[in-house]
Amino acid sequence: MKNMITHYGYTDGSGEYYIVIDTDRCNGCGKCVKECPQSALQLETMFIDLEDKTVASVSEEHRKKIKYTCSSCKPERNSAPCVLACEGKAIRCVWNSR
Ligand code: SF4
Ligand code: SF4
Repeated sequence: MKNMITHYGYTDGSGEYYIVIDTDRCNGCGKCVKECPQSALQLETMFIDLEDKTVASVSEEHRKKIKYTCSSCKPERNSAPCVLACEGKAIRCVWNSR
């Protein structure tokens, strides 16, 4: 089985800002979606390993402004509500400001 790691976010002049979801570990439980105070997460069906799988993703709208969307959660500490909600440790934040 191939692990698929999806990155949502961007690098800009001030640093790198990504919500990272391991689609192999994600079981589509939706707990992170429920806990996100900004409603930035959603469940999405993706074609992975030759089958459809429902996994968490960052909604299109928030991908382009994730630095602002997520800032109140202090994602650099990796204790954001989405990260804490996920029992399978499928979601994490890569947050490095320069
Ligand atoms: S809480 Fe974890 S396992 Fe559940 S949908 Fe979110 S990322 Fe996937
Ligand atoms: S860091 Fe906060 S705002 Fe960003 S996806 Fe996670 S819970 Fe939602």
